[in-house]
Amino acid sequence: MQVKFLGAARGVTGSCFVVHSGDNRFAVDCGMHQGTQEVEQRNQDLNVYDAAGLEFVLLTHAHIDHCGLLPALVKYGFKGRIYCTRPTGDLLEIMLKDSAHIQEMEAEWASRKKARHGRFNRIEPLYTSRDVSRTLSLVQAVEYNEEFTPCRDVHVLFKDAGHILGSAIIEIRAENVDDGRIKLVFSGDLGRPNQLLMRNPSHSEVADFLFLESTYGNRDHKDEDQSREELLLAINYSYEKGEKVIIPAFALERTQEVLYSLYLLYQEGRLPQDMPLFLDSPLAIRATQVFSKHYSYFDAQTRAIFHSGDDPLKLPNLRISQTAQDSMNINSYKGPAIVISASGMANAGRVKHHLRHNIWRKGAGIVFVGFQAQGTIGRKIVDGAASVRILGEELAVKARIFTINGFSAHAGQSQILEWLSVFYNQGMKVFLVHGEYENQLALAEKIQEQFGYEVHIPDYLEECILKTDRGYEARLPPEKKGPAVNWDYVLAELEDKMSTLRLNEKDLSSMDTREQSRIRDELLEIGSDISRVLASLNSGNNSC
Ligand SMILES: [Zn+2]
Repeated sequence: MQVKFLGAARGVTGSCFVVHSGDNRFAVDCGMHQGTQEVEQRNQDLNVYDAAGLEFVLLTHAHIDHCGLLPALVKYGFKGRIYCTRPTGDLLEIMLKDSAHIQEMEAEWASRKKARHGRFNRIEPLYTSRDVSRTLSLVQAVEYNEEFTPCRDVHVLFKDAGHILGSAIIEIRAENVDDGRIKLVFSGDLGRPNQLLMRNPSHSEVADFLFLESTYGNRDHKDEDQSREELLLAINYSYEKGEKVIIPAFALERTQEVLYSLYLLYQEGRLPQDMPLFLDSPLAIRATQVFSKHYSYFDAQTRAIFHSGDDPLKLPNLRISQTAQDSMNINSYKGPAIVISASGMANAGRVKHHLRHNIWRKGAGIVFVGFQAQGTIGRKIVDGAASVRILGEELAVKARIFTINGFSAHAGQSQILEWLSVFYNQGMKVFLVHGEYENQLALAEKIQEQFGYEVHIPDYLEECILKTDRGYEARLPPEKKGPAVNWDYVLAELEDKMSTLRLNEKDLSSMDTREQSRIRDELLEIGSDISRVLASLNSGNNSC
């Protein structure tokens, strides 16, 4: 048996593991690669997936870094079934349609940009909404804890991972592997015990090879009750000052967790009753509807609320902002209000408009409830920038910034170790996936120390031969052919910035003299950096 790591290997996006067992070839997850230019370039390298040769896909959950490349797979010839839980199937529909919309818009934008530079070949979107429709027609719903056999000699069981609605741990029993059998367990993204809405993650007890997520392999989260208190503190702060509190939140899961927290505060009579709550993200609105529809998948406390006829995701003061006009109306609303809007890192979406209207206001509050990646507007604000550039305007940060770390749908280090402690078989091999390398090293050390399991951290495109005696052989990825960097994109970006500068030459000339000198020095420095690159290029050419 062989497993190939096509993503989430020493990184947290692009989850995809292709399993080759006997004559069968299938994938666990097929996520979008997100992050740096080099990482996102992998979304274009679809040949490595051999889409037409895959028999089926087992999908752990509907986060885009686990499912976002499925339509591309279909575009490149995949025709098999996509097995996932019923709620994941419903969430998949809204996530992939949204993703296709983004792909189409970005391709359009990039084509126009190229045309401005005299290059008229159109950029193709990674996939379109038509590819998404074909993808959705391949979905086959499965139930938790009911084993099925998608092909001969391969038996599969989905268990609740407690991460987001419909999320699964996947167990695979393969028979007739070198006259023996092998059991694989893929943790998917593991939830936290006692997370709002979700049931606690299920346990597996036996595996020959465990593929374990390690997003928070090096640390623990704060308590959720404490996070709720911090949220209340932020709301009260702006309420007393008659201002708005803006919460940038990811549409899937984080928004619902925040809504539920607000519901609990409301029930306790601690939330200001005359403060409207705007939910301003079409994707978050649709995801919330899917959550309410599948309430039977939640924990006992949440189900009890639904059974009593209440909906913890629908507060009495909730106002839905569906259209762009609804969204704009929030800005003209006078008085304190809570605004939940996407995206979670404030680098896209409607939340940018709310930040533009509020971030410079003393008394307003901005509440970050999720991870802020390097380079995003959210990260700059969290890091204490005195001003940030949003929608072309440099804005002073006068609002109070709150960062709440306890809302996470991932198990922290000690919770991962706790989950692992239930396995009782000796000699299990643990492959750490879905984590930054430094975090993985920290977790690997803990696992070896506490349980004595051998831990391996596979690299992107690595292949591992798995044996029935739990031995394995790792084959390092072959040297990558072709350019590692999308030079066309990088150079076009530079050209674009230079021509914008040229267009703003008058503005530069009208600045005060000292500022002009400062900018001149900065630009000259960039110029000499480019000269250095050119020089190394020339010396490289000479050596050929
Ligand atoms: Zn996830």
